[in-house]
Amino acid sequence: MCKQLELFPEEKQQEDKDRKEAETIDLNPLFERLAKSKFRSSFYLNAKDKEYIHSKGWEKIEEGTRKTIATRLAPECIPNDGKQTPMRHGIFPPFIAQHATGCCCRGCLEKWHGIPKGRQLTMKEQAYITHVIMEWLHRNVQ
Ligand SMILES: [Zn+2]
Repeated sequence: MCKQLELFPEEKQQEDKDRKEAETIDLNPLFERLAKSKFRSSFYLNAKDKEYIHSKGWEKIEEGTRKTIATRLAPECIPNDGKQTPMRHGIFPPFIAQHATGCCCRGCLEKWHGIPKGRQLTMKEQAYITHVIMEWLHRNVQ
């Protein structure tokens, strides 16, 4: 059975705590490792992606990123794992960031971030992944 992760109001406080904690993690070592990968460092934001970010605003982008992770990455079982994240430009820029940071599927999450597949992602892990994606977008939007 594939269970979907849902957030209840009483979990909101814990989620805020997880988010604040995730934001204190130093991502420089990760970004240095990613820079050494020819594949990961080949991803970039084009004009359409940048325009999308500026028109939506960072808050909306982050909200959409959280939702994407909760629905496409967090479940214990993902039937199309490895194919759930589009690579094309101009759809949703966080998708590009996911590929660039090894947060595109559970296989890559395991390889790049040591987060094992075959189980549901914790809220803390989801907060971390959101932080990674948002950081990559901020660094690459200029
Ligand atoms: Zn992947």
